[in-house]
Amino acid sequence: MFKKVLIANRGEIALRIHRACHEMGIKTVAVHSTADSDAMHVRLADESVCIGPAPSRESYLNIPRLIAAAEITGADAVHPGYGFLSENARFAEILRDHGIAFIGPSPEHIRMMGDKIIAKETVKKLGIPVVPGSDGGVTTDEEARAVCEKIGYPVIIKAAAGGGGRGMKVVRSKEELPTALNACRTEAKAAFGDDAVYIEKFLGKPRHIEFQIIGDNHGNCIHLGERDCSLQRRHQKVLEEAPSPVINEETRQRMGGIVAKAMADFGYSGAGTIEFLYEDGEFYFIEMNTRVQVEHPVTEMITGIDIVREQIRVASGAPLSYTQDMVRFHGHAIECRINAEHPFTFVPSPGMVTQYHVPGGLNVRCDSAIYAGYAIPPYYDSMVAKLIVSGYTREGCLLRLRRSLEEFVVSGVTTTIPLHQTLIENDDFRAGKYDIHWLEKFLATHN
Ligand code: ADP
Repeated sequence: MFKKVLIANRGEIALRIHRACHEMGIKTVAVHSTADSDAMHVRLADESVCIGPAPSRESYLNIPRLIAAAEITGADAVHPGYGFLSENARFAEILRDHGIAFIGPSPEHIRMMGDKIIAKETVKKLGIPVVPGSDGGVTTDEEARAVCEKIGYPVIIKAAAGGGGRGMKVVRSKEELPTALNACRTEAKAAFGDDAVYIEKFLGKPRHIEFQIIGDNHGNCIHLGERDCSLQRRHQKVLEEAPSPVINEETRQRMGGIVAKAMADFGYSGAGTIEFLYEDGEFYFIEMNTRVQVEHPVTEMITGIDIVREQIRVASGAPLSYTQDMVRFHGHAIECRINAEHPFTFVPSPGMVTQYHVPGGLNVRCDSAIYAGYAIPPYYDSMVAKLIVSGYTREGCLLRLRRSLEEFVVSGVTTTIPLHQTLIENDDFRAGKYDIHWLEKFLATHN
């Protein structure tokens, strides 16, 4: 097992990784920018290294500085968390060349899944159903028109290198197509340095259902069921739950079985998420994330399995601690992403946290790295806490969530806690009746 892990991240996920390491008897190294000298992950880690100024490019995304920090501290592995370099194949490769383990899949697998066109082709061959659309990339207007005529409007043009909800354009008629294609390619080039785009059928009322999988280096891969992440704003998740209110046990086992077998055949090692759109009883793959996800705790709450711990184990060469038969689902869990933003206009609200009180009690978990007296820097993601609550039933979970949100105090900055409070009182939400467009419509009536 590793002796010392460098955590190449910040915020709540850096803390989450630190916790898993310390429970396993592994020492931790925090890295931080000058804006994060007072961050909780820096305070808790065994050692810390300042790797540069506030802009991520010069610190959390700076590979030479991270490698230097790992070498100076003698870390034998690096956990990238999510975001930043977590899906950067080059980073994983450079670490491998330096004899430092990357806690994640192989660079080859990261690279394949990081290109959404290759990812779609790959999983299709492995027996996973995909959204109908172009076979590979599309460059000319003629090609695009032919694809759209075949699949029918509306369609969505997506950047092969896209991520974080960016690089997508919905096209509703053939008149809009040439301009949209051109704009999407130009934007993709500017944002991701790659102008490859592809076309998919735009589904009208799907849910976003994703399956958590973990594979090891011994040919095993298991699934930990699904998460429903349909509550989104600008393609970004706001609240997630597991299990999905619309997936029954038979479907869970069937789809979970398909993805776990596909990933075992692929030889995948590490944690991963296979994302689907689910409409009228059918699943359509959209992408795979080759890292731990923000919403992983809802799965941990209903399975009791520590996903980060398993990531560390498999990266060290150990086999998974669980077989598929050992995975049991208990109850229901919901996660609210709490951002330092206005709850309805989403204007960022960085600044000093004057008071901070975290809710507690049975089955209440809060993953956060903020504290009273901490100044939330304006340079990074605005998510400051994740409140995860579970219950024996979805209804019980909602009652506990209402009580927990009511107890949560974050003063000095504005947060999205009131958004969650409003959401969970809504009849559609309470009935589990929502698709990926529901939240935006709901917000439009609240502004
Ligand atoms: P990203 O990598 O940027 O997260 P995804 O491919 O995962 O991009 O898509 C993000 C979200 O965009 C999905 O959860 C869904 O809400 C919406 N979306 C993506 N593809 C489609 C599609 N074919 N039809 C309808 N909505 C889509």
